[in-house]
Amino acid sequence: EQDVTDYRNGLAIRVSGFDVPQPVKTFEDCGFPSQLMNTIVKQGYEKPTPIQCQALPIVLSGRDVIGIAKTGSGKTAAFVLPMIVHIIDQPELDKEEGPIGVICAPTRELAHQIYLEAKKFAKQFGLRVSAVYGGMSKLEQFKELKAGSEIVVATPGRLIDLLKMKALTMLRATYLVLDEADRMFDLGFEPQVRSIVGQIRPDRQTLLFSATMPRKVEKLAREILSDPIRITVGEVG
Ligand code: ADP
Ligand code: MG
Repeated sequence: EQDVTDYRNGLAIRVSGFDVPQPVKTFEDCGFPSQLMNTIVKQGYEKPTPIQCQALPIVLSGRDVIGIAKTGSGKTAAFVLPMIVHIIDQPELDKEEGPIGVICAPTRELAHQIYLEAKKFAKQFGLRVSAVYGGMSKLEQFKELKAGSEIVVATPGRLIDLLKMKALTMLRATYLVLDEADRMFDLGFEPQVRSIVGQIRPDRQTLLFSATMPRKVEKLAREILSDPIRITVGEVG
């Protein structure tokens, strides 16, 4: 087991776990398909942020990750870019139904931001992204999910509602992201998060991001992730 802390540009980057893949220095190192590279360049992303350097090769290798880093560190692309690769690598993409990538976030605003980021990168591949959160018509969301989406970005409560309405099944979901897990717990979504996780096959890839790791979040992570690699990016001192 590795547990290494690296100090760079005033940041302490700690990575712990078994068989940790090496960090990348550039997006080219990730071996992304050209359509994805084009969008990265168009976004003005010149090089990966520190959490992205560590997380991208680990997530691309299929491992589970616990990512702890403050707001603004670039966590969204760290899970959205490998999600696109994960989805386009599916051998029989058209044959089944339901999302492959499921992302849960605590609030509408956060879910919406992730939705926009996912759409930018998904578009070139013809992948459909659905936003599932309160404040929008449930019926419209029901219809959209029925028509099919490869990626669903959701707040936990609304996703549970739509699952109960059978707007979608999770049978095909193999890539689960819990973003801002600490805030989801603060807002009382632990039961909904657990219910969603319980409906997704256990051989999925699971990523959990959080700004802090309270004991309850730590316990959930231990229960639902397999052999995770933990990445912590924090200020030094
Ligand atoms: P977090 O989820 O950690 O709070 P975000 O994923 O929302 O952070 O990213 C914060 C901002 O940084 C966003 O505006 C995003 O577009 C931008 N960003 C992400 N990755 C890069 C990158 N590699 N280079 C430049 N900007 C980036
Ligand atoms: Mg974020």
